[in-house]
Amino acid sequence: MFYGGVKMRSNEDLIKYLKREGFIKSKKVEEAFLAIDRKDFVPYAYRNEAYVDEPLPIGEGQTISAPHMVAIMLELASIEEGMNILEIGSGSGYNACLMEYIAYPGTVYTVERQRSLYLIAKGNIKNCPHSKNINIFEGDGSLGLPEYSPYDRIIVTCGAPDIPPPLIEQLKVNGIMLIPIGGTYFQELYLIKKRLNGIEKIDEGSVAFVPLRGKYGYSEKLYNEKFR
Ligand code: SAH
Repeated sequence: MFYGGVKMRSNEDLIKYLKREGFIKSKKVEEAFLAIDRKDFVPYAYRNEAYVDEPLPIGEGQTISAPHMVAIMLELASIEEGMNILEIGSGSGYNACLMEYIAYPGTVYTVERQRSLYLIAKGNIKNCPHSKNINIFEGDGSLGLPEYSPYDRIIVTCGAPDIPPPLIEQLKVNGIMLIPIGGTYFQELYLIKKRLNGIEKIDEGSVAFVPLRGKYGYSEKLYNEKFR
């Protein structure tokens, strides 16, 4: 399999491509990608495509994000050692493991709403470096996880209709949140900086994530009101 002229047969091939295309910029993001192999997070049936730069199905109509999207978000998140991080949408657990690799000895909390994916992510996370510092919860991540707040970083890996207010509350002052905001198919990725006197919102470009469900996400009711 070729991608942009690069043979995509190994995690190293994938990293070479992500660097060449400018998605991986920093040493620490590169090291995380080297340490965490995407093949360990995609369903067995898709193992041959693990190193292709595409989202892949992980069950329940959900996807593991395309590697370039994961790299973009990791670079924008500017994670530092020791940080306290919240992820909404564990999916396969891939992004949580990458973030923990960079944040170690910090902690990653990740919330997944779908039971079957929660169980899959939990199993995948067990095998990754520093797994003891990754805590996964089943529940509605649009409510955040107040118990372990405030967070230095909040990374939302599903598309929201707007910023869920609990996530702003649970973010540290000077903390950063990355969140796709828009419709259920296409969104703009926003980098939110929380300041003492409000928030700063930077549009980082168009993205396509599966929708955030739950109280501050696309409930069936909200979805119908917006799109009927
Ligand atoms: N970060 C994941 C990909 C996430 S896909 C990875 O690295 O593989 C988006 C995930 O968000 C899906 O698994 C979906 O079930 C989950 N999701 C949607 N709404 C949610 C909510 N309210 N709380 C927690 N997870 C949610």
